Amino acid sequence: MAACTHLDQVRDVTPSSMEGCSECLATGGQWVHLRMCVTCGRVGCCDSSPNRHASKHAAAEDHPLASSFEPGEDWTWCYVDDVALMIDIPHPHRLPYPGEA
Ligand SMILES: [Zn+2]
Ligand SMILES: [Zn+2]
Ligand SMILES: [Zn+2]
Repeated sequence: MAACTHLDQVRDVTPSSMEGCSECLATGGQWVHLRMCVTCGRVGCCDSSPNRHASKHAAAEDHPLASSFEPGEDWTWCYVDDVALMIDIPHPHRLPYPGEA
């Protein structure tokens, strides 16, 4: 199993949005799934989404770790090492979205 060397970039963050991808909300875009940067709290859309804001943010800001922002999911992805991690971070996103309870 591949190791991730970026765990020192995990911060105690507040999500930039509880509603969805911050950039898609601003531009009227659509997303499929959401990820949250665990370094700064930026919420962005996944690589299955048209705009892939989460991976763009990871590359642009050098913030390689993003945690799933989907209810019930608590894995974290490293965009540099291409590996999924289970790390203990606060998960405000575990709360179900309206209608998904
Ligand atoms: Zn890594
Ligand atoms: Zn987006
Ligand atoms: Zn970030």
